Amino acid sequence: MNQTTATDPMQPPPPGSAAPAALVALSARLGRDETLVQGGGGNTSLKYENDFWVKASGTWLAQAETRDVFVRLPLARVRALMTEADAESALAALTGADGLRPSIETSLHALLPHAVVAHVHSVNAITRAVRPDAETALARALDGLSWAWVPYRRPGLPLTEAIRSALAAAPVPPDILLLANHGLVVGGHDCAAAEARLREVERRLALSPRQAPGPDLGRLQAVNDAGWTIPDAPLLHAVGTDRIACAIAVRGTLYPDHVVFLGERADIADENRPLSRALADAAARPPVYVVVPGAGVLVSPTLSDGARAMLGCLAQVGLRSNTADTLHYLDSDDVAALIGWEAEAYRLARDHIDATAGA
Ligand SMILES: [Zn+2]
Repeated sequence: MNQTTATDPMQPPPPGSAAPAALVALSARLGRDETLVQGGGGNTSLKYENDFWVKASGTWLAQAETRDVFVRLPLARVRALMTEADAESALAALTGADGLRPSIETSLHALLPHAVVAHVHSVNAITRAVRPDAETALARALDGLSWAWVPYRRPGLPLTEAIRSALAAAPVPPDILLLANHGLVVGGHDCAAAEARLREVERRLALSPRQAPGPDLGRLQAVNDAGWTIPDAPLLHAVGTDRIACAIAVRGTLYPDHVVFLGERADIADENRPLSRALADAAARPPVYVVVPGAGVLVSPTLSDGARAMLGCLAQVGLRSNTADTLHYLDSDDVAALIGWEAEAYRLARDHIDATAGA
């Protein structure tokens, strides 16, 4: 498909930086669904002639209808910058009217020919895309759709280059991309087409989560000797009470936001190793949560709303996984590339700014 301009139901763009209403509505709908988007993850974009709206880094799609979460950029300029030697820095410097940076994944959106692009951290797509047989199993599930598999690369320009290769190798330009250890991208000629495509993929990839045992509040309180918080959201405790979800959390990380918001792997506390001891042992890399196997999780009092949402995502993925053993985890180089990356530090900082502002 070769779509470069938006059509019905979008109106010509209004003056200023306001994004088209259809994009705002789509973004808010996707952002409110925690099986598609968690916290500041995921992003959407719309191209209309040389106007290009893309979600701002660190903002939440769920808030698209209550604050301006988009940066309006000149599409031709963005595409020209993508060919420069230090393209990531050049793109990050393209701030919008209120100083917001465009998403880390802006180049991905600019590369695709579709007028509307939605990138989500679908828990169904992530769960399937970390399995050892992901590519062949997805080929069965998505049979008849125009899709391509993209190997894991760090978000930003490396991922965009992997997508460029996938597009070049495809016999027909795909409308759907399954990103290994990351998520899902769909494009359409307008917002309705992109959303319909996303819903169809989700219908085909849907996995039923296990019912997790509830938290053991008595054990959590007994282990919590450092004044941390026992979350009141039952879903989060699945990371401690579901055997497979817990094993995944302790073993490593499966996707970028897992690393960025929750750290490289979960620390364990229990009756033999209370929270204060676990925190002392992990002093060099203070955790934001610990698991108490069989009982639930304890979270730092300073846990951001974004990290809380990412813990929910980890629970959702864990409850859809049948094993922790054979999954493809991010390796130490992948993790180091995310932890040491200034652009991700900016996202984390924005998350705390927004939480403080109550936005
Ligand atoms: Zn992403």
